[in-house]
Amino acid sequence: MLLNGKTAVISGAASQRGIGRATAQLFAEHGARVAILDLDAGASADAAKALPGDGHVGIACDVTDKSSCDAAAKAAIEAFGRVDVLVNNAGITQPLKTLDISLENWGKVIDVNLTGVLLLSQAFVPHMKEKGGGSIACMSSVSAQRGGGIFGGPHYSAAKAGVLGLAKAMAREFGPAGIRVNSVTPGLIQTDITGGKLTDEMRTDILKGIPLNRLGDAADVAKIYLFLASDLSSYVTGATIDVNGGMLI
Ligand code: NAD
Repeated sequence: MLLNGKTAVISGAASQRGIGRATAQLFAEHGARVAILDLDAGASADAAKALPGDGHVGIACDVTDKSSCDAAAKAAIEAFGRVDVLVNNAGITQPLKTLDISLENWGKVIDVNLTGVLLLSQAFVPHMKEKGGGSIACMSSVSAQRGGGIFGGPHYSAAKAGVLGLAKAMAREFGPAGIRVNSVTPGLIQTDITGGKLTDEMRTDILKGIPLNRLGDAADVAKIYLFLASDLSSYVTGATIDVNGGMLI
C-alpha cells in the first residue's frame, strides 16, 4: 500500500484499456483516492465508480481549456480536501507525415499533449505549494526521443519532446516548494491508441527492435507512475523514465 491516505488526479483516465485507467486502478489498489479526469463526464464517473475502495470521483475536464482545468482542480480539491499527486496523462496521436500536417493538426496535437500539461499543472501547483509539496508525473513518449513512431506524427514527437523540457523546467522551479516533477517515456504500449491498429506483420517487425520481445501493456506504465507518485521516489525530480522494453538500447 504505497499511497495510503494519499489523493491523486489523473487526466485522460476514462478509456477502458488506457494507461490512465490502469494507473487509476493501481493507485486505488495502493490505498489512494483517485479523481479521474476525462472529456466525458459520464465516462469519468463510471470509471471512478469501477475502482476498488471508496471516495473516488470522476470529473469532466478538457485539458486544452484553461477554465475547464481550473474548475476540475477546484472540484478535486473540494472533494478530497487536498491533492498530493497529479498525473498529466491525457494525449492524442495523429499518424501524419511532416508535409501533410496542417496548422489545425499541429494545434490540436500540441494543445492536448503539451499545452494540457501546462494548464493542468498551473491549476494544481498553487494548491500543492500551499500544502507544502506534491508529485507531478507527465506523459511523454519514446517518439520524443526517436523522432517519430508508428502512430504519432512529427507534431506528436514535438509535443512529447516539449513535455520533457516543460517537466524539467517545472521540476527546477517548484523543487524548493517540495513539488517533484518527472516524465515517463513509454515505448509501444497496447491501448486503444495502438492495439487494434497493429497487423501481425507490423508486430513481428516491431518486436525485432525490442529486447524484452513483447509490446508493453498499460500496467507496465502504471507501475512507473506509482513509483513517481509514491515516497519511493522521494529524491527523484526532473527525471525521465523509459518504459520501452529496451527499444532504445
Ligand atoms: P487512450 O486513448 O486510451 O488514452 C488517452 C486518454 O486521453 C483518453 O481517455 C482520452 O479521452 C483522453 N483525452 C484526449 N483528449 C483529451 C482532452 N483534451 N482532455 C482530457 N482528456 C483527453 O491512449 P493511451 O495509450 O492510454 O494514452 C495515454 C497517454 O500515453 C497519452 O498521452 C499517449 O500519448 C501516451 N503514450 C501512449 C503510448 C502507447 O503506445 N499507447 C506510448 C507513449 C505514450
